[in-house]
Amino acid sequence: MNEIVIVSGKGGTGKTSVVASLACLIENKAMADCDVDAANLSLVLSPRVREQKEFFAGGKAIIMPEECTGCGVCRDVCRFGAISEEFIVDPVSCEGCGACRYYCPAGAVKFTTPLAGHCFICDTARGDPFVYAELLPGEENSGKLVTMVRTEAKEKAVSAGLSRIIIDGPPGIGCPVIASITGTSLAVAVTEPTASGIHDLDRIVQLARHFEVPAAVIVNKSDINPDCTGSIIDYCKTNGVQVFGEVPYDREISEAQRHGKAIVEYAPGSPASHAIIGIAEHIKSLKKE
Ligand code: SF4
Ligand code: SF4
Repeated sequence: MNEIVIVSGKGGTGKTSVVASLACLIENKAMADCDVDAANLSLVLSPRVREQKEFFAGGKAIIMPEECTGCGVCRDVCRFGAISEEFIVDPVSCEGCGACRYYCPAGAVKFTTPLAGHCFICDTARGDPFVYAELLPGEENSGKLVTMVRTEAKEKAVSAGLSRIIIDGPPGIGCPVIASITGTSLAVAVTEPTASGIHDLDRIVQLARHFEVPAAVIVNKSDINPDCTGSIIDYCKTNGVQVFGEVPYDREISEAQRHGKAIVEYAPGSPASHAIIGIAEHIKSLKKE
């Protein structure tokens, strides 16, 4: 299975716009939106939900009043101040460390595994399998939900005899990004020519390298700062990172977003579309590493 993850060192680089267009241009693939905190690929892919699965996060402590003797040991060991004087656990403050359960002499502490979100297994309007997830309000993203999305997408791709999965990864370099990158065939970083662009790009390239995943780069809005774009290209040459293409600034991209479409659907003759079509052709020609 050829798993290609599209990432960015930070949010707002136009990553999802690129992914939405690749979804239109590349055949024989499943799609996965692992940007769980801002899962907006579904706005463009018009999915039909076929199945919905529950996602349970890490547990929280709960004290059973009928078994609690009121000895206070749990309050002493809780480093997060999550247990009240009445021995009630505040689920927001509880970090689920388990210390209270371990030390409670009466066995009065149980653990809940609260529902934290849902994973949606869909078909897109084009008939591709597509998996995305949504967290319930207040729940924090974690690599576990990203892994669930990837696993479901892989199952769908395998059962449909597809050879590729295109993953819209989360921005940054945190736990959800690591869960999106590990074990993939290629990480494509979308970056912009801004002052922090090279720094953000370097972080994501180093992360991919750490997990032995080859990295490539797409420079978005490449014409807004040619000097910075030149520096990014130099960085890529120096660090052995392939540049898949440069996408010029194109106000049609915002219009396409407003209409819930990928730029290659909304304005196929636009400069940005031409650039992304070239990038898609390049990706299609790649052999699995
Ligand atoms: S340690 Fe156990 S028995 Fe003691 S107050 Fe806490 S929950 Fe109750
Ligand atoms: S699980 Fe940890 S954080 Fe939660 S109440 Fe118990 S000791 Fe405190």
